[in-house]
Amino acid sequence: MGCVFCGIVSGSEPAWRVYEDDVVVVILDKYPVSKGHLLVITKKHYESIHDADPREALHAFAVAAALARVYRTKLGAPGVNVVTNSGRPAGQVIFHFHVHVIPRWSGGSFRWSSRHELTAEEAEEVIAELEPHLDGVKSYLRKAGLSAHI
Ligand SMILES: [Zn+2]
Repeated sequence: MGCVFCGIVSGSEPAWRVYEDDVVVVILDKYPVSKGHLLVITKKHYESIHDADPREALHAFAVAAALARVYRTKLGAPGVNVVTNSGRPAGQVIFHFHVHVIPRWSGGSFRWSSRHELTAEEAEEVIAELEPHLDGVKSYLRKAGLSAHI
């Protein structure tokens, strides 16, 4: 019973990686709701936020907040959703704790059904846009009194 996110953390499963520290890995969602949809994944396996170590859950949300800020202040997204789904009724599909960061480039309602399959071209474009701003994640963690370690 392999967990796909544990495979991504260990490197045995492919993913487009955006950011990594001792606690989390950030990847591009393979089926983005919008261009730039990210997943902040804890390196340790927890089923969801209900059993995640509180410090690691806080860390994951701080990284998500920093990335949401990058999208709004540096990349011009007029809106961003930061959300975690806990349990199947909440729409959780992969049972390894993760936080979605979904930049919103235009209006309209939030719909998981608007997902499409990520292409290499889209992934490379998003990573090239984010890369110059990723120092902001570590400075955000420092301002929150967190470090890249637990
Ligand atoms: Zn896992």
